[in-house]
Amino acid sequence: MIRSANWLGDAVMTVPAMMAVRQTYPEAHIAVVANPLVAQLLENHPGCDEVIVYNKRAEHAGVLGMLRFAADLRRRKFDCAILFQYAIEAGIMAFLAGIPRRLGFTTDGRRIFLTHPVPFGEAEKAIHQTDAFLRIVNHYGIKAEEKRQTLSLLDSERAWVKEQLPEGPVVTINPGAAYGSAKRWYPERFAAVGDFLAREYGMHVVLIGGPGEVEIGKDIAAAIQAPVHNFVGKTSVRQMMALIDVASLMVTNDSGPMHIAAGFNVPIVAIFGSTNHTTTSPFSESYRIVRHQVECSPCMLRECPIDHRCMDRVTVADVVDAVQSFMPELLQGKA
Ligand code: SF4
Repeated sequence: MIRSANWLGDAVMTVPAMMAVRQTYPEAHIAVVANPLVAQLLENHPGCDEVIVYNKRAEHAGVLGMLRFAADLRRRKFDCAILFQYAIEAGIMAFLAGIPRRLGFTTDGRRIFLTHPVPFGEAEKAIHQTDAFLRIVNHYGIKAEEKRQTLSLLDSERAWVKEQLPEGPVVTINPGAAYGSAKRWYPERFAAVGDFLAREYGMHVVLIGGPGEVEIGKDIAAAIQAPVHNFVGKTSVRQMMALIDVASLMVTNDSGPMHIAAGFNVPIVAIFGSTNHTTTSPFSESYRIVRHQVECSPCMLRECPIDHRCMDRVTVADVVDAVQSFMPELLQGKA
């Protein structure tokens, strides 16, 4: 049993570690426990045999819901639990499920629930999140043959995208960030970048994002001159993944969809401010980070308590320069 991380982006970054488990134990039945959004992300993934949905907002709410879920897991008689989620809850759940081997970082005071603890200190905080997840399994001899963060789609999901968009190169613009407004660049600046890409390179501009970001999508749609395909708040995670995969480029904040783009090897221009651009950068070979060093960064806050200077200082010209550094090879296919 693998307990996945709870954020989409973090879950993408667990994929190399999950694949390492698959490669080391090809005969094992691997079940991933995940919240409903992450469950969609990992549906039909070759690194696991099934995804078990753990929904704390509905049927598994509260202590009783968790106990019921752990009892269901107990009946499954798992041999080993690998905890990519850092919270104590994951340790308690694996313990209550009677899983005899429990691997995970010693975070959140859960050492006593682990049979195979992995120390978590300054070194683990400083490395890329993908490498941190790998460290959990490496600590007990499970090695990755390669560290690619590959995601998967069904042919039917790719076919759905073809029905939605005209022929030609696509840029996905991801202007939200579920974590909070501190991570978000500005709608009118995203609109200006979209206009540039449509005008100079004939790209179709596709807006993506979650239900909480609908207003941001509308603001961009109102500000942009070019035709725009606004999917913000209108897709499932799987459909959003398919829109990301078909694109030649993503322009984005630091967020889950950015990591999904890395999982499909889509070139990325990512705007960073409040978060750490070294530990959560896209885990791919094809990306540019745009940021301005300010004294308070990274603050890791959800909302900026001052004047949002880390984002305000990133200009449209900065982002356009980063985009142009990919051109023209980018239009010939994925880098
Ligand atoms: S405190 Fe600084 S780094 Fe954090 S969001 Fe505000 S300006 Fe950005």
